[in-house]
Amino acid sequence: MITSTTGPQPADFADVRATNLAVVLRFVREHAPCSRADIAASTGLNKATVSSLVADLIDRRLVRETGLTENRVGRPATMLVLDGSPYAAIGVEIGVDTVSAVATDLAGGRLLTWRRAFSGGDSVSQSVAGVGAIVRRVVNRMAKEERQVLGLAVAVPGLVDVQGTVRLAPNLGWHDADLGGDLAKALRDPGFPIQVDNDANLAALAEQRFGPYAGAADLVYLSGGVGVGAGIILDGRLRRGGLGYSGEIGHVQLDPEGPACHCGRRGCLEAVAGIGAVLRKDLSPAETQAEIEEVVRQARSGDPGTLARLTSVGTGLGQGVAILTNLLDPAVVILGGYYVPLAPWVLPAVHDELGRRVVAPGAPEVVASTLGHDAAALGGAARVLDSIDSGRLPGGLARIP
Ligand SMILES: [Zn+2]
Repeated sequence: MITSTTGPQPADFADVRATNLAVVLRFVREHAPCSRADIAASTGLNKATVSSLVADLIDRRLVRETGLTENRVGRPATMLVLDGSPYAAIGVEIGVDTVSAVATDLAGGRLLTWRRAFSGGDSVSQSVAGVGAIVRRVVNRMAKEERQVLGLAVAVPGLVDVQGTVRLAPNLGWHDADLGGDLAKALRDPGFPIQVDNDANLAALAEQRFGPYAGAADLVYLSGGVGVGAGIILDGRLRRGGLGYSGEIGHVQLDPEGPACHCGRRGCLEAVAGIGAVLRKDLSPAETQAEIEEVVRQARSGDPGTLARLTSVGTGLGQGVAILTNLLDPAVVILGGYYVPLAPWVLPAVHDELGRRVVAPGAPEVVASTLGHDAAALGGAARVLDSIDSGRLPGGLARIP
């Protein structure tokens, strides 16, 4: 039995208040325009508490009042909406040869979308300096608009542990990189939190908040870059696993006799159904983009060899999605990256495999992402907004009523 020398402590009042502020903020995000009475009725908080919490959120400029509207009993009520005009959330995605940056306001409206060529350099520190320079320009732009940065989340194509250390990012040539710490130094301790996460994880958060399946409680995002990774949302929450390495579906073996994978094993999903299997040769990322466009042209023109290759990719991908489905039972599986332009020719075979391999009645919807190439960067901004929604509020100290 665990005992404490100090005995039970009273609930921390500041914690309770921060939690209640977050409850009210989330309610306004989801139901605006709404009145204080609406908030009280739905959250179970009493009206005086709601008034005090709303005053606090208005002080922090997270919520603002709009005009009056008649409520149901005929008395005018002041309606509330999200404000957040002095704030920005920043997401950055580090790719093999590009860095994407997205800034949003508190409601998720885009303030900035950048995509910059980026050569990683010879070392992690050179890469960090390059990424740091881009982030500094984003932060300066937000400062010019008189917006305070709420936080930064950086997406990396690789294994990121729960502390945010990049354990292995083979396509960047990184291992054991304290990216968050190094970026904080490069930005000279910027005064906002910096988080680092796997690119598929953050893209899944972007889909959950901004995509056509926003709000889906059980959603898997499959990245289709040089590698294939899964961002897994179950019961409404991103599931990183114990150490942070969940979702390495790309290295599930589909065929022991299959093609060699760069991980050293054979027949991994990534080798059978990743972008390398579409192109069948090693290309630079810039060449890959052009080559994918050529594959799409040939598929459109009905080239039999191209169609057969895409069907084979769809079959391998379908086997992987069937494993995910039998394990996790997602409602929707969203294909990202290079799978998006290829989806019309890949999806039929995916659906065939699901029909053959999924044990339970029904199968998830499998669709192509509509969020574009910067889904993971947008997901970085989503992660920052998630931490605000869960109670890490900017601005002055909570007022005691
Ligand atoms: Zn592998």
